[in-house]
Amino acid sequence: MKRYVFKSIYLKFVAVFVGVLWLSSTAAFFIGFHIVEDDLKESLRHQLTGKAKLMIEYNTKYSLEISDLMRLFSESGIEAISFKDISEIDRRGLSRLSDFRQEIEGLKAGEIFEGEPDTKKGFPFTAFKLGDEIIVLRLSPNTSIMLIVRSIIYTVLLICAGIGSLLIVIAARMVVRPIKRLTEATREVSKGNFDIQLMPTSRDEIGKLTSDFITMTQELKKIEYLRKDFISSVSHEFKTPITAIQGFAKLIKEKKLKQEQFDEYTDIIISETERLSNLSSSLLRLTQLENQTIYKSSTTFSIDEQLRRALVLLDNRWSSKEIDLDIDLEKIHYTGDEELLLQVWLNLLSNAIKFSERGGHIAVTARENNGIIRVEVADEGVGISEEDKKRVFEKFYKSDKSRSSEGNGLGLAIAKRIVEHSGGRISFESTLGVGTRFIVELKSI
Ligand code: ADP
Repeated sequence: MKRYVFKSIYLKFVAVFVGVLWLSSTAAFFIGFHIVEDDLKESLRHQLTGKAKLMIEYNTKYSLEISDLMRLFSESGIEAISFKDISEIDRRGLSRLSDFRQEIEGLKAGEIFEGEPDTKKGFPFTAFKLGDEIIVLRLSPNTSIMLIVRSIIYTVLLICAGIGSLLIVIAARMVVRPIKRLTEATREVSKGNFDIQLMPTSRDEIGKLTSDFITMTQELKKIEYLRKDFISSVSHEFKTPITAIQGFAKLIKEKKLKQEQFDEYTDIIISETERLSNLSSSLLRLTQLENQTIYKSSTTFSIDEQLRRALVLLDNRWSSKEIDLDIDLEKIHYTGDEELLLQVWLNLLSNAIKFSERGGHIAVTARENNGIIRVEVADEGVGISEEDKKRVFEKFYKSDKSRSSEGNGLGLAIAKRIVEHSGGRISFESTLGVGTRFIVELKSI
């Protein structure tokens, strides 16, 4: 049952604070009253003794009648009672005076007796001899000042606790409001709606939580956008060659083609299937790299030899474009995944060839300095615009639309993943119309 009552943090907050307030008020009432009570008794004792002295003085100096004096001094909550004998006081149960033998003797001799209350709840009284009578001055039971004090403290505390409770109800609402808003926003995000209207209203922990939540939602939105974008890019990349293959296959099936047309169309079909095959293996590699499911085989091999091998593999491409190669490679040994790293050089070199003009110049250098291996592939090709620089490492990003048929926009994304996978760094410098230099840095140890 308790579980259900406090399901809301607001109720829990209010219950705890109001409970604490009322508990502390009750405690304050008893403690406060206890402190005031002692002071009151002390001042009452002084007052009673002072009055007793005055009564004796008035009686002796001005010969005022005892009955008149008693009337005169019975005011402001103080009562004067006269007794013929000490034993009468005892009988009337005012105080067990008989317990104070010595003091009674003094009373007879005209001294003022300051009687202490015999119970914690009682009040001090004063007894003295006036003429033949014993006068007792005490607090009038009808107008007990203690009752007044008690009710004042009680009322003040009651008002305090009441106002406090009301303010707590309002304050708790203010504290809980951002949490409620955050809960609603979480629910929206879980439904897939990332466009939430939420603003941090404070700089405290809840404000920090809100702004972190907003950042998280924005990141999720980006990921969601990238995911959708990735799916549409993949579909598009697959659809284009498939449509081409389908179209040319239909034309071949009609059997009305001349021999050269037939050869041309079958060549297109072969190159498009190659493109599809490359695309699916690139995608597979990228997914493996991103999910870290790729097996990292580590061998020690020569980077310079690997770069030469890559150039040999691309021989067809650079020689057909009459590219002039400038190769400057130091002897460097590296321990890592040989197959994956070869892919990096192939991607960088084939881009350099692809984006170079016929008869262009490509420089490949490899150096090792202070445990850092630095491989550079520089071309004097088209270059990359400032706008495209931010996006070249994105999956499927192809800035040069005219050459889009030559690539799938995955080469640099794969190269970046592999280099980072090997604990290295990839960067580039490029000027539009001047050329591009890709730099790969790897730790040699
Ligand atoms: P692609 O298969 O299109 O080459 P990449 O991921 O390898 O895909 O490259 C992405 C884009 O970066 C390219 O489309 C091109 O616009 C740009 N790019 C990469 N390398 C170079 C380069 N050497 N010179 C100019 N542009 C380049």
